[in-house]
Amino acid sequence: MVDIGHILSRELGSERVIVRGDERLDDYEHDESPMAPHPCDAAALCGTTEQVAAVLRLCHEHKVPVTPRGAGSGLTGGCMPVRGGVVLSVETMQRIHEISPDDMVAVCEPGVVTQTLQNAVEEQGLFYPPDPASLEYCSIGGNAANNAGGPRAFKYGVTREYVLGLEVALMGGEVLRVGRRCAKGVTGYDLTAGFVGSEGTFGVITELTLRLLPKPPAQATLLAVFRSIADAGASITALIGRGIRPRVIELADKASIDHVRPRSRYKFPETAHAIVLVEVDGDADSLGLQVEHIGEECDRRGAIDIFAANDPAERRALWEARRQISPALKEAHRYKIGEDVCVPRSNIVEMLRRVDRISAETGVAMAVFGHAGDGNLHVNLLCDDDPADPAVQHKLENACGRVFADAVALRGTLSGEHGIGLVKRDYMRLEQSERVLEWQRKWKAMWDPDDLLNPGKVIPERRASCSE
Ligand SMILES: Cc1cc2nc3c(=O)[nH]c(=O)nc-3n(C[C@H](O)[C@H](O)[C@H](O)COP(=O)(O)OP(=O)(O)OC[C@H]3O[C@@H](n4cnc5c(N)ncnc54)[C@H](O)[C@@H]3O)c2cc1C
Repeated sequence: MVDIGHILSRELGSERVIVRGDERLDDYEHDESPMAPHPCDAAALCGTTEQVAAVLRLCHEHKVPVTPRGAGSGLTGGCMPVRGGVVLSVETMQRIHEISPDDMVAVCEPGVVTQTLQNAVEEQGLFYPPDPASLEYCSIGGNAANNAGGPRAFKYGVTREYVLGLEVALMGGEVLRVGRRCAKGVTGYDLTAGFVGSEGTFGVITELTLRLLPKPPAQATLLAVFRSIADAGASITALIGRGIRPRVIELADKASIDHVRPRSRYKFPETAHAIVLVEVDGDADSLGLQVEHIGEECDRRGAIDIFAANDPAERRALWEARRQISPALKEAHRYKIGEDVCVPRSNIVEMLRRVDRISAETGVAMAVFGHAGDGNLHVNLLCDDDPADPAVQHKLENACGRVFADAVALRGTLSGEHGIGLVKRDYMRLEQSERVLEWQRKWKAMWDPDDLLNPGKVIPERRASCSE
Protein backbone atom coordinates (compact mmCIF):
# COMPACT_ATOMS: atom_id res chain seq x y z
CA MET A 1 0.00 0.00 0.00
CA VAL A 2 1.22 3.50 -0.83
CA ASP A 3 2.68 5.53 2.08
CA ILE A 4 0.93 8.80 1.27
CA GLY A 5 2.19 10.50 4.45
CA HIS A 6 5.77 9.92 3.32
CA ILE A 7 5.06 11.10 -0.24
CA LEU A 8 3.40 14.32 1.00
CA SER A 9 6.18 14.97 3.54
CA ARG A 10 8.73 14.84 0.72
CA GLU A 11 6.72 17.44 -1.24
CA LEU A 12 5.57 19.81 1.55
CA GLY A 13 8.17 19.22 4.25
CA SER A 14 7.51 17.00 7.26
CA GLU A 15 6.43 19.96 9.42
CA ARG A 16 3.34 20.30 7.23
CA VAL A 17 2.26 16.66 7.34
CA ILE A 18 0.86 14.78 10.34
CA VAL A 19 0.97 11.01 9.94
CA ARG A 20 -0.67 8.09 11.67
CA GLY A 21 0.74 7.44 15.13
CA ASP A 22 0.97 11.18 15.88
CA GLU A 23 -1.85 11.99 18.31
CA ARG A 24 -2.35 15.43 16.68
CA LEU A 25 -4.03 13.52 13.84
CA ASP A 26 -7.07 12.96 16.11
CA ASP A 27 -7.96 16.65 15.65
CA TYR A 28 -8.52 16.07 11.91
CA GLU A 29 -10.80 13.04 12.18
CA HIS A 30 -13.98 14.67 13.50
CA ASP A 31 -16.06 17.85 13.32
CA GLU A 32 -18.71 19.31 15.65
CA SER A 33 -21.38 16.76 14.69
CA PRO A 34 -22.06 14.04 17.24
CA MET A 35 -20.64 11.38 14.85
CA ALA A 36 -17.80 9.08 15.90
CA PRO A 37 -14.42 10.06 14.36
CA HIS A 38 -13.18 8.44 11.12
CA PRO A 39 -9.48 7.55 10.93
CA CYS A 40 -7.29 8.90 8.14
CA ASP A 41 -3.71 8.24 7.00
CA ALA A 42 -2.38 11.79 7.13
CA ALA A 43 -3.28 15.46 7.45
CA ALA A 44 -1.63 17.94 5.09
CA LEU A 45 -1.49 21.46 6.54
CA CYS A 46 -1.28 23.50 3.35
CA GLY A 47 -0.07 27.11 3.51
CA THR A 48 -0.30 28.10 -0.17
CA THR A 49 -2.34 27.37 -3.28
CA GLU A 50 0.70 25.58 -4.74
CA GLN A 51 0.79 23.23 -1.77
CA VAL A 52 -2.94 22.54 -2.06
CA ALA A 53 -2.48 21.78 -5.77
CA ALA A 54 0.49 19.51 -5.04
CA VAL A 55 -1.51 17.47 -2.50
CA LEU A 56 -4.37 17.10 -4.98
CA ARG A 57 -1.95 16.07 -7.76
CA LEU A 58 -0.12 13.46 -5.67
CA CYS A 59 -3.27 12.01 -4.14
CA HIS A 60 -4.84 11.79 -7.59
CA GLU A 61 -1.76 10.03 -8.93
CA HIS A 62 -1.89 7.47 -6.10
CA LYS A 63 -5.71 7.26 -6.01
CA VAL A 64 -5.90 8.39 -2.38
CA PRO A 65 -9.11 10.10 -1.15
CA VAL A 66 -8.79 13.72 0.02
CA THR A 67 -11.10 15.50 2.47
CA PRO A 68 -10.86 19.32 2.56
CA ARG A 69 -11.08 20.90 5.99
CA GLY A 70 -11.40 24.48 7.24
CA ALA A 71 -11.88 25.02 10.97
CA GLY A 72 -13.78 21.75 11.55
CA SER A 73 -16.85 23.48 13.02
CA GLY A 74 -19.28 21.74 10.65
CA LEU A 75 -22.31 19.95 12.08
CA THR A 76 -22.83 17.33 9.37
CA GLY A 77 -19.61 15.30 9.24
CA GLY A 78 -18.70 17.15 6.01
CA CYS A 79 -14.97 17.37 6.74
CA MET A 80 -14.70 13.88 8.20
CA PRO A 81 -12.49 11.49 6.18
CA VAL A 82 -15.05 8.71 5.77
CA ARG A 83 -12.91 6.82 3.26
CA GLY A 84 -9.62 7.47 5.06
CA GLY A 85 -6.78 8.93 2.99
CA VAL A 86 -5.67 12.52 3.50
CA VAL A 87 -7.32 15.44 5.28
CA LEU A 88 -6.30 18.60 3.45
CA SER A 89 -6.42 21.45 5.95
CA VAL A 90 -6.34 25.11 4.88
CA GLU A 91 -6.49 26.41 8.46
CA THR A 92 -3.11 28.14 8.16
CA MET A 93 -4.06 30.02 4.96
CA GLN A 94 -5.12 33.10 6.90
CA ARG A 95 -3.99 36.08 4.86
CA ILE A 96 -6.37 38.91 4.00
CA HIS A 97 -4.78 40.10 0.76
CA GLU A 98 -6.89 43.19 0.22
CA ILE A 99 -9.86 45.21 1.46
CA SER A 100 -10.88 47.71 -1.19
CA PRO A 101 -13.28 50.48 -0.10
CA ASP A 102 -13.44 51.69 -3.73
CA ASP A 103 -14.50 48.37 -5.22
CA MET A 104 -16.16 47.22 -1.98
CA VAL A 105 -14.49 43.83 -2.08
CA ALA A 106 -12.23 41.79 0.16
CA VAL A 107 -9.80 39.22 -1.20
CA CYS A 108 -8.61 36.59 1.24
CA GLU A 109 -7.40 33.07 1.83
CA PRO A 110 -9.87 30.36 2.90
CA GLY A 111 -8.57 29.83 6.44
CA VAL A 112 -9.39 33.37 7.59
CA VAL A 113 -11.74 33.17 10.57
CA THR A 114 -15.09 34.77 9.71
CA GLN A 115 -15.08 37.20 12.63
CA THR A 116 -11.50 38.28 11.84
CA LEU A 117 -12.63 39.24 8.35
CA GLN A 118 -15.71 41.02 9.69
CA ASN A 119 -13.64 43.05 12.16
CA ALA A 120 -11.06 43.94 9.51
CA VAL A 121 -13.65 45.23 7.03
CA GLU A 122 -15.60 47.08 9.74
CA GLU A 123 -12.45 49.00 10.66
CA GLN A 124 -12.71 50.48 7.16
CA GLY A 125 -16.40 51.37 7.48
CA LEU A 126 -17.47 48.30 5.47
CA PHE A 127 -19.66 45.31 6.29
CA TYR A 128 -19.54 41.57 5.55
CA PRO A 129 -23.02 40.38 6.63
CA PRO A 130 -22.97 36.52 6.81
CA ASP A 131 -22.82 35.70 10.52
CA PRO A 132 -22.96 31.99 11.38
CA ALA A 133 -23.19 31.57 15.16
CA SER A 134 -19.78 29.84 14.95
CA LEU A 135 -18.17 32.98 13.48
CA GLU A 136 -15.53 33.24 16.21
CA TYR A 137 -13.85 30.08 14.95
CA CYS A 138 -15.27 28.91 11.59
CA SER A 139 -13.40 29.78 8.38
CA ILE A 140 -14.52 31.82 5.42
CA GLY A 141 -13.60 28.94 3.06
CA GLY A 142 -15.78 26.57 5.07
CA ASN A 143 -18.58 29.18 4.99
CA ALA A 144 -18.37 29.31 1.18
CA ALA A 145 -18.13 25.50 0.88
CA ASN A 146 -21.30 25.16 2.99
CA ASN A 147 -23.00 28.35 1.83
CA ALA A 148 -23.35 29.29 5.49
CA GLY A 149 -26.12 31.48 6.80
CA GLY A 150 -26.83 33.09 10.15
CA PRO A 151 -29.37 35.36 11.84
CA ARG A 152 -28.69 38.33 9.52
CA ALA A 153 -29.52 36.23 6.44
CA PHE A 154 -33.12 37.40 6.69
CA LYS A 155 -32.20 40.86 5.45
CA TYR A 156 -28.80 40.28 3.85
CA GLY A 157 -28.90 36.75 2.44
CA VAL A 158 -26.41 33.90 2.81
CA THR A 159 -22.73 33.48 1.89
CA ARG A 160 -23.42 32.80 -1.81
CA GLU A 161 -24.67 36.37 -2.24
CA TYR A 162 -21.25 37.67 -1.19
CA VAL A 163 -18.91 35.40 -3.14
CA LEU A 164 -18.00 37.19 -6.37
CA GLY A 165 -15.04 35.08 -7.40
CA LEU A 166 -12.98 32.08 -6.34
CA GLU A 167 -9.67 30.43 -6.91
CA VAL A 168 -10.15 26.66 -6.67
CA ALA A 169 -7.78 23.72 -6.93
CA LEU A 170 -9.22 20.60 -8.52
CA MET A 171 -8.47 16.94 -7.89
CA GLY A 172 -5.40 16.32 -10.06
CA GLY A 173 -3.87 19.69 -9.19
CA GLU A 174 -5.30 22.10 -11.79
CA VAL A 175 -5.96 25.59 -10.41
CA LEU A 176 -8.91 27.59 -11.79
CA ARG A 177 -10.05 31.16 -11.27
CA VAL A 178 -13.82 31.59 -11.62
CA GLY A 179 -16.14 34.55 -11.20
CA ARG A 180 -15.19 38.23 -11.07
CA ARG A 181 -14.35 41.25 -8.98
CA CYS A 182 -16.85 43.73 -10.44
CA ALA A 183 -20.31 44.26 -8.99
CA LYS A 184 -22.14 42.70 -11.96
CA GLY A 185 -21.24 40.11 -14.60
CA VAL A 186 -23.12 37.45 -16.55
CA THR A 187 -20.34 36.01 -18.68
CA GLY A 188 -20.76 32.27 -19.13
CA TYR A 189 -22.26 29.82 -16.69
CA ASP A 190 -22.08 30.75 -13.02
CA LEU A 191 -19.37 28.33 -11.89
CA THR A 192 -18.74 30.37 -8.75
CA ALA A 193 -22.29 29.75 -7.54
CA GLY A 194 -21.77 26.03 -8.24
CA PHE A 195 -18.63 25.77 -6.13
CA VAL A 196 -20.33 27.63 -3.28
CA GLY A 197 -22.32 25.06 -1.32
CA SER A 198 -20.61 22.07 -2.96
CA GLU A 199 -19.25 21.08 0.48
CA GLY A 200 -15.70 20.44 -0.67
CA THR A 201 -16.75 17.80 -3.21
CA PHE A 202 -15.95 19.81 -6.41
CA GLY A 203 -12.68 21.53 -5.55
CA VAL A 204 -10.66 23.12 -2.76
CA ILE A 205 -11.22 26.87 -2.38
CA THR A 206 -7.85 28.61 -2.11
CA GLU A 207 -8.87 32.27 -2.46
CA LEU A 208 -12.12 34.22 -2.25
CA THR A 209 -13.18 37.61 -3.63
CA LEU A 210 -16.05 38.79 -1.44
CA ARG A 211 -18.63 41.53 -1.92
CA LEU A 212 -18.86 44.08 0.89
CA LEU A 213 -21.54 46.61 1.88
CA PRO A 214 -21.33 49.92 3.70
CA LYS A 215 -21.45 49.36 7.44
CA PRO A 216 -24.94 50.23 8.79
CA PRO A 217 -24.51 53.19 11.16
CA ALA A 218 -26.76 51.92 13.96
CA GLN A 219 -28.74 48.92 15.22
CA ALA A 220 -31.59 48.42 17.67
CA THR A 221 -32.72 45.17 19.29
CA LEU A 222 -36.03 44.15 20.83
CA LEU A 223 -37.15 40.99 22.62
CA ALA A 224 -40.83 40.04 22.80
CA VAL A 225 -42.10 37.25 25.04
CA PHE A 226 -45.28 35.29 24.30
CA ARG A 227 -47.53 32.77 26.00
CA SER A 228 -47.69 30.65 22.86
CA ILE A 229 -45.79 29.89 19.69
CA ALA A 230 -48.92 30.76 17.71
CA ASP A 231 -48.89 34.33 19.11
CA ALA A 232 -45.17 34.64 18.35
CA GLY A 233 -45.75 33.39 14.78
CA ALA A 234 -48.64 35.82 14.28
CA SER A 235 -46.51 38.76 15.40
CA ILE A 236 -43.73 37.84 12.96
CA THR A 237 -46.21 37.67 10.07
CA ALA A 238 -47.71 41.00 11.14
CA LEU A 239 -44.46 42.93 11.38
CA ILE A 240 -43.24 41.66 8.01
CA GLY A 241 -46.67 42.49 6.57
CA ARG A 242 -46.24 46.04 7.83
CA GLY A 243 -43.25 46.41 5.55
CA ILE A 244 -40.58 46.33 8.25
CA ARG A 245 -37.42 44.54 7.12
CA PRO A 246 -35.44 43.68 10.28
CA ARG A 247 -31.97 42.26 9.79
CA VAL A 248 -32.78 39.52 12.29
CA ILE A 249 -35.94 37.73 13.41
CA GLU A 250 -35.10 34.91 15.80
CA LEU A 251 -37.54 32.58 17.54
CA ALA A 252 -37.14 30.17 20.46
CA ASP A 253 -39.63 27.79 22.07
CA LYS A 254 -40.38 27.02 25.72
CA ALA A 255 -37.85 24.18 26.03
CA SER A 256 -35.09 26.48 24.73
CA ILE A 257 -36.15 29.29 27.10
CA ASP A 258 -36.25 26.94 30.08
CA HIS A 259 -32.72 25.69 29.34
CA VAL A 260 -31.21 29.16 28.93
CA ARG A 261 -33.14 30.82 31.78
CA PRO A 262 -30.52 30.18 34.52
CA ARG A 263 -27.71 31.81 32.51
CA SER A 264 -29.65 34.74 31.06
CA ARG A 265 -29.24 38.28 32.41
CA TYR A 266 -32.70 39.08 31.03
CA LYS A 267 -35.20 37.44 33.39
CA PHE A 268 -37.76 35.55 31.33
CA PRO A 269 -41.33 35.54 32.74
CA GLU A 270 -42.35 32.13 34.12
CA THR A 271 -45.20 31.89 31.60
CA ALA A 272 -42.90 32.42 28.61
CA HIS A 273 -43.64 29.81 25.94
CA ALA A 274 -41.94 31.59 23.03
CA ILE A 275 -39.62 34.52 22.40
CA VAL A 276 -38.99 36.61 19.31
CA LEU A 277 -35.75 38.58 19.04
CA VAL A 278 -35.84 41.32 16.42
CA GLU A 279 -32.97 43.55 15.30
CA VAL A 280 -33.16 46.44 12.86
CA ASP A 281 -30.33 48.49 11.41
CA GLY A 282 -29.92 51.69 9.42
CA ASP A 283 -29.81 55.41 10.18
CA ALA A 284 -30.05 56.05 13.91
CA ASP A 285 -32.96 58.49 13.31
CA SER A 286 -35.17 55.86 11.69
CA LEU A 287 -34.60 53.07 14.21
CA GLY A 288 -36.74 54.44 17.06
CA LEU A 289 -39.85 54.44 14.89
CA GLN A 290 -39.18 50.95 13.56
CA VAL A 291 -38.77 49.58 17.09
CA GLU A 292 -42.01 51.30 18.09
CA HIS A 293 -43.89 49.65 15.20
CA ILE A 294 -42.45 46.23 16.01
CA GLY A 295 -43.42 46.68 19.66
CA GLU A 296 -46.98 47.63 18.61
CA GLU A 297 -47.37 44.52 16.46
CA CYS A 298 -46.06 42.23 19.22
CA ASP A 299 -48.29 43.92 21.80
CA ARG A 300 -51.33 43.48 19.57
CA ARG A 301 -50.57 39.75 19.32
CA GLY A 302 -50.49 39.28 23.09
CA ALA A 303 -46.82 39.73 24.04
CA ILE A 304 -46.47 39.42 27.84
CA ASP A 305 -43.22 41.36 27.89
CA ILE A 306 -41.46 43.60 25.37
CA PHE A 307 -37.93 44.65 26.12
CA ALA A 308 -36.18 47.16 23.86
CA ALA A 309 -32.43 47.25 24.48
CA ASN A 310 -31.38 50.85 25.07
CA ASP A 311 -27.61 50.52 25.00
CA PRO A 312 -24.88 48.15 23.78
CA ALA A 313 -24.73 46.32 27.14
CA GLU A 314 -28.46 45.51 27.01
CA ARG A 315 -28.14 44.43 23.37
CA ARG A 316 -25.25 42.16 24.31
CA ALA A 317 -27.30 40.63 27.15
CA LEU A 318 -30.14 39.75 24.76
CA TRP A 319 -27.76 38.24 22.21
CA GLU A 320 -25.93 36.36 24.92
CA ALA A 321 -29.19 34.72 25.96
CA ARG A 322 -29.92 33.77 22.33
CA ARG A 323 -26.41 32.43 21.70
CA GLN A 324 -26.35 30.49 24.95
CA ILE A 325 -29.35 28.35 23.99
CA SER A 326 -27.34 25.80 22.02
CA PRO A 327 -24.52 25.41 24.61
CA ALA A 328 -27.14 25.20 27.40
CA LEU A 329 -28.92 22.36 25.60
CA LYS A 330 -25.64 20.59 24.92
CA GLU A 331 -24.46 20.82 28.52
CA ALA A 332 -27.78 19.69 29.99
CA HIS A 333 -27.99 16.47 27.96
CA ARG A 334 -25.81 13.51 27.22
CA TYR A 335 -26.39 13.75 23.48
CA LYS A 336 -27.78 16.50 21.26
CA ILE A 337 -28.52 16.36 17.56
CA GLY A 338 -29.02 19.85 16.10
CA GLU A 339 -30.96 19.79 12.83
CA ASP A 340 -31.66 22.84 10.68
CA VAL A 341 -34.75 22.26 8.60
CA CYS A 342 -36.29 25.19 6.78
CA VAL A 343 -39.97 25.71 5.94
CA PRO A 344 -41.87 28.51 4.22
CA ARG A 345 -42.51 31.16 6.88
CA SER A 346 -46.27 30.56 6.76
CA ASN A 347 -45.65 26.99 7.95
CA ILE A 348 -43.42 27.72 10.96
CA VAL A 349 -46.18 27.36 13.52
CA GLU A 350 -47.44 24.15 11.90
CA MET A 351 -43.88 22.76 11.84
CA LEU A 352 -43.52 23.49 15.53
CA ARG A 353 -46.84 21.73 16.22
CA ARG A 354 -45.55 18.71 14.32
CA VAL A 355 -42.27 18.73 16.26
CA ASP A 356 -44.29 18.61 19.51
CA ARG A 357 -46.28 15.68 18.16
CA ILE A 358 -43.16 13.79 17.03
CA SER A 359 -41.58 14.38 20.41
CA ALA A 360 -44.65 13.04 22.25
CA GLU A 361 -45.01 10.02 19.98
CA THR A 362 -41.34 9.02 19.92
CA GLY A 363 -40.41 9.94 23.48
CA VAL A 364 -37.48 12.09 22.25
CA ALA A 365 -37.28 15.48 23.99
CA MET A 366 -36.89 18.38 21.56
CA ALA A 367 -36.11 22.09 21.74
CA VAL A 368 -36.48 24.45 18.80
CA PHE A 369 -34.92 27.82 18.10
CA GLY A 370 -33.79 29.47 14.92
CA HIS A 371 -33.98 32.07 12.26
CA ALA A 372 -37.73 32.55 12.01
CA GLY A 373 -37.45 35.28 9.41
CA ASP A 374 -36.18 32.62 6.99
CA GLY A 375 -38.29 29.75 8.37
CA ASN A 376 -34.99 28.09 9.35
CA LEU A 377 -35.61 26.06 12.53
CA HIS A 378 -32.91 24.37 14.59
CA VAL A 379 -34.74 21.33 15.88
CA ASN A 380 -32.62 19.85 18.67
CA LEU A 381 -33.15 16.23 19.62
CA LEU A 382 -32.09 15.73 23.24
CA CYS A 383 -31.15 12.43 24.74
CA ASP A 384 -30.02 11.30 28.18
CA ASP A 385 -29.80 7.58 27.39
CA ASP A 386 -26.74 5.85 26.00
CA PRO A 387 -26.64 6.84 22.30
CA ALA A 388 -24.58 3.70 21.57
CA ASP A 389 -27.56 1.53 22.56
CA PRO A 390 -29.13 0.34 19.25
CA ALA A 391 -32.66 0.86 20.62
CA VAL A 392 -31.84 4.48 21.52
CA GLN A 393 -30.22 5.01 18.15
CA HIS A 394 -33.28 3.63 16.39
CA LYS A 395 -35.55 5.94 18.41
CA LEU A 396 -33.43 9.00 17.51
CA GLU A 397 -33.21 8.07 13.84
CA ASN A 398 -36.95 7.56 13.69
CA ALA A 399 -37.61 10.96 15.31
CA CYS A 400 -35.07 12.66 13.04
CA GLY A 401 -36.53 11.05 9.91
CA ARG A 402 -40.00 12.22 10.89
CA VAL A 403 -38.79 15.80 11.42
CA PHE A 404 -37.22 15.78 7.93
CA ALA A 405 -40.30 14.19 6.34
CA ASP A 406 -42.61 16.76 7.92
CA ALA A 407 -40.39 19.69 6.87
CA VAL A 408 -40.46 18.44 3.27
CA ALA A 409 -44.22 17.77 3.46
CA LEU A 410 -44.65 21.43 4.47
CA ARG A 411 -42.78 22.44 1.27
CA GLY A 412 -39.55 22.98 3.18
CA THR A 413 -36.06 21.56 2.94
CA LEU A 414 -33.72 19.30 4.95
CA SER A 415 -31.10 21.97 5.56
CA GLY A 416 -31.32 25.74 5.65
CA GLU A 417 -27.61 26.35 6.27
CA HIS A 418 -25.57 23.50 7.80
CA GLY A 419 -25.41 21.46 4.59
CA ILE A 420 -25.93 17.75 3.99
CA GLY A 421 -22.47 16.25 4.53
CA LEU A 422 -22.65 12.74 5.79
CA VAL A 423 -25.40 12.90 8.37
CA LYS A 424 -28.24 13.97 6.08
CA ARG A 425 -27.07 12.28 2.88
CA ASP A 426 -29.38 9.31 3.24
CA TYR A 427 -32.40 11.57 3.71
CA MET A 428 -31.89 13.35 0.37
CA ARG A 429 -34.46 11.11 -1.33
CA LEU A 430 -37.15 12.56 0.92
CA GLU A 431 -36.72 15.85 -0.94
CA GLN A 432 -35.19 15.16 -4.35
CA SER A 433 -36.12 12.74 -7.09
CA GLU A 434 -33.74 10.02 -8.31
CA ARG A 435 -33.36 11.95 -11.58
CA VAL A 436 -32.33 15.14 -9.77
CA LEU A 437 -29.82 13.15 -7.71
CA GLU A 438 -28.50 11.53 -10.89
CA TRP A 439 -27.82 14.94 -12.53
CA GLN A 440 -25.96 15.99 -9.42
CA ARG A 441 -23.81 12.80 -9.59
CA LYS A 442 -22.94 13.77 -13.19
CA TRP A 443 -22.02 17.27 -12.06
CA LYS A 444 -19.74 15.89 -9.35
CA ALA A 445 -18.18 13.43 -11.85
CA MET A 446 -17.33 16.33 -14.17
CA TRP A 447 -14.99 17.83 -11.53
CA ASP A 448 -13.84 14.62 -9.92
CA PRO A 449 -14.38 11.59 -12.20
CA ASP A 450 -12.56 9.17 -9.87
CA ASP A 451 -14.64 10.23 -6.85
CA LEU A 452 -11.61 11.00 -4.72
CA LEU A 453 -12.46 14.48 -3.41
CA ASN A 454 -14.54 14.32 -0.22
CA PRO A 455 -16.14 11.05 -1.31
CA GLY A 456 -19.29 9.70 0.37
CA LYS A 457 -20.80 13.13 1.02
CA VAL A 458 -23.94 15.01 -0.02
CA ILE A 459 -25.41 12.73 -2.71
CA PRO A 460 -26.51 9.21 -1.72
CA GLU A 461 -25.16 6.18 -3.60
CA ARG A 462 -26.98 5.28 -6.80
CA ARG A 463 -29.66 2.66 -6.27
CA ALA A 464 -29.03 -0.63 -8.07
CA SER A 465 -32.21 -0.17 -10.13
CA CYS A 466 -31.29 3.33 -11.41
CA SER A 467 -29.43 3.02 -14.71
CA GLU A 468 -27.29 5.81 -16.20
C1 LIG B 1 -21.96 26.27 17.74
C2 LIG B 1 -22.11 26.24 16.25
C3 LIG B 1 -22.95 27.14 15.65
C4 LIG B 1 -23.10 27.13 14.27
N1 LIG B 1 -23.92 28.05 13.69
C5 LIG B 1 -24.06 28.08 12.37
C6 LIG B 1 -24.89 29.06 11.76
O1 LIG B 1 -25.47 29.92 12.42
N2 LIG B 1 -25.00 29.04 10.41
C7 LIG B 1 -24.34 28.12 9.65
O2 LIG B 1 -24.48 28.15 8.42
N3 LIG B 1 -23.56 27.18 10.20
C8 LIG B 1 -23.39 27.13 11.53
N4 LIG B 1 -22.58 26.18 12.10
C9 LIG B 1 -21.95 25.16 11.25
C10 LIG B 1 -20.52 25.51 10.75
O3 LIG B 1 -19.86 26.38 11.63
C11 LIG B 1 -20.57 26.10 9.34
O4 LIG B 1 -21.03 25.10 8.44
C12 LIG B 1 -19.24 26.63 8.82
O5 LIG B 1 -19.46 27.22 7.56
C13 LIG B 1 -18.16 25.55 8.66
O6 LIG B 1 -16.92 26.19 8.46
P1 LIG B 1 -15.54 25.45 8.81
O7 LIG B 1 -14.44 26.30 8.39
O8 LIG B 1 -15.54 25.02 10.22
O9 LIG B 1 -15.65 24.19 7.85
P2 LIG B 1 -15.36 22.66 8.13
O10 LIG B 1 -16.24 22.15 9.23
O11 LIG B 1 -13.92 22.44 8.26
O12 LIG B 1 -15.85 22.04 6.76
C14 LIG B 1 -17.21 22.12 6.36
C15 LIG B 1 -17.33 21.64 4.90
O13 LIG B 1 -16.65 22.54 4.04
C16 LIG B 1 -15.62 21.87 3.33
N5 LIG B 1 -14.50 22.83 3.27
C17 LIG B 1 -13.94 23.52 4.28
N6 LIG B 1 -12.99 24.35 3.80
C18 LIG B 1 -12.97 24.19 2.45
C19 LIG B 1 -12.23 24.78 1.38
N7 LIG B 1 -11.31 25.71 1.59
N8 LIG B 1 -12.48 24.37 0.12
C20 LIG B 1 -13.42 23.43 -0.13
N9 LIG B 1 -14.15 22.85 0.83
C21 LIG B 1 -13.94 23.23 2.11
C22 LIG B 1 -15.33 20.60 4.10
O14 LIG B 1 -14.87 19.57 3.26
C23 LIG B 1 -16.71 20.28 4.66
O15 LIG B 1 -17.49 19.61 3.71
C24 LIG B 1 -22.40 26.16 13.48
C25 LIG B 1 -21.54 25.27 14.10
C26 LIG B 1 -21.39 25.29 15.47
C27 LIG B 1 -20.45 24.31 16.11
